[in-house]
Amino acid sequence: MNTRKIRVRFAPSPTGLLHVGNARTALYNWLFARRNGGDFILRIEDTDVERSEARYETQLMEDLQWLGLDWDEGPGEPGEKGSKTKDKGPNGPYRQSERQQIYTKLTKKLLKDGLAYRCFCTVEELEADRRTAVARHQPQVYSGRCRKLPLKAIVKNLDAGKPFTVRLKVGEQPLRFHDMVRGDVEFASETVSDPILVRSGYENLPGMPVYNFVVAVDDALMGITHVIRGDDHISNTPKQVAIYQAFGWKVPQFAHLSTILGADRERLSKRHGATSISSFREMGYLPEALINYLALLGWGAEDGRTETFTMPELLKAFTLERVTPSPAIFDFDKLNWLNRHFMKTASSSRLARLAWEYFGFMLPEKDQASDDVLVWFANLVQLFSQSVDHLDQLPAKALFMFGFNATEARAKEENAEILAADSSRLVLGELANRARAHYEPVTPEIFKEWMNAIKEATGIKGKELFHPVRIALTGTHSGPEFDKLIPLMEQGSTLRLGVPSVRSRIERFVGV
Ligand code: GLU
Repeated sequence: MNTRKIRVRFAPSPTGLLHVGNARTALYNWLFARRNGGDFILRIEDTDVERSEARYETQLMEDLQWLGLDWDEGPGEPGEKGSKTKDKGPNGPYRQSERQQIYTKLTKKLLKDGLAYRCFCTVEELEADRRTAVARHQPQVYSGRCRKLPLKAIVKNLDAGKPFTVRLKVGEQPLRFHDMVRGDVEFASETVSDPILVRSGYENLPGMPVYNFVVAVDDALMGITHVIRGDDHISNTPKQVAIYQAFGWKVPQFAHLSTILGADRERLSKRHGATSISSFREMGYLPEALINYLALLGWGAEDGRTETFTMPELLKAFTLERVTPSPAIFDFDKLNWLNRHFMKTASSSRLARLAWEYFGFMLPEKDQASDDVLVWFANLVQLFSQSVDHLDQLPAKALFMFGFNATEARAKEENAEILAADSSRLVLGELANRARAHYEPVTPEIFKEWMNAIKEATGIKGKELFHPVRIALTGTHSGPEFDKLIPLMEQGSTLRLGVPSVRSRIERFVGV
């Protein structure tokens, strides 16, 4: 029995914001590790010096933390203002840019053992080979010209300071690997040819190692048992397997996850809407909703039905066997549905804390708010979150609570039509009469009495009764029920937030 401890890694390149596709890869790795008592390693693949940026590294760590995906080994958590902190774990460094010496040492070993060779072919020579292959309808692979270069020629080239790449010698046999999601995958050896491991080096020093080389080296040295990543890396895998074989290292298991597409079946991109974790976060999606949604992008529960999962439930249910190879379509409606579900289950104080920042100058600084304001706002969020998909939509829905412009509300087309009816004028006149005679806070019971009395006095009922009243109090003819709104208005009016009371709303709209 294989008793090797399960070790997986998430290996993002810090060249942009963490995309939902990569976040799903991180999640599947994390779930697989946590479920099997394994380790989850974060490795930063920052060998592309020009495109890698420290701010993206910091951001992606913050995004992982926000999602609740903690790592056992990796760069330390971002420090003050994104400064680098000490690595976590014994297999570091965990940034590829800090591992150059390891790659150099191993390149030298391969060269010494005759498993790799220096290739002095120039760009022009390779281009000419490519053109000939195209003309002869042959595969465009490296000719192998430098494979058997005699030592004398190598020394001469080195003495002449000719730049070279380092290529791996790949045998004739086809390269196979088993993929846990896709089954057996086989590549003819000529499609791999002799891959470059290190790009143009000078004199005796190898230059920049390429992705396939460093990824295989790091996975092997970090003891990775399962490589779970996007299927855009399938065609890289045989090259990586060949590198493992050259060193005599144990080849890990592979699981390649399907591509995420937009509704039009094109690769998901900004064109389809938000795609980065930080933008979903800014829009006020809850991390548990995003986690649940990402889990369902390419994986499904065993019963084929359950769609809502908390993290502990996911940990119980998730297996790689149920990951599908077919592309997943990103469905914003479903994500919204899940977010609404989790907003309902979230505690009202947490939701209020998260929603606070979206209200800008409508609210005081949170740490200066009184307990009464906090409770009032939590009730407001509880009520209005039922009608939004994500928290940044709340202020637009709840704006009228802080007052609205009566003239503008009257002028709105759908309101003007309702208000023009004789019945509306009658109803609002009666409402003003009642408000005029009342100085106490209005309770839902009192309000109900008013409405009943108006109904009796005028014979007007239903929409014709309620719509004009709702417009007078809220500026629109639809919204949350009065039983909930009235107390919010009355309590809000005592808190110095500029929230008008029921009476002053009527006063402003109808005149009392
Ligand atoms: N740095 C690679 C990427 O972001 C990850 C490659 C891998 O997982 O092997 O696509």
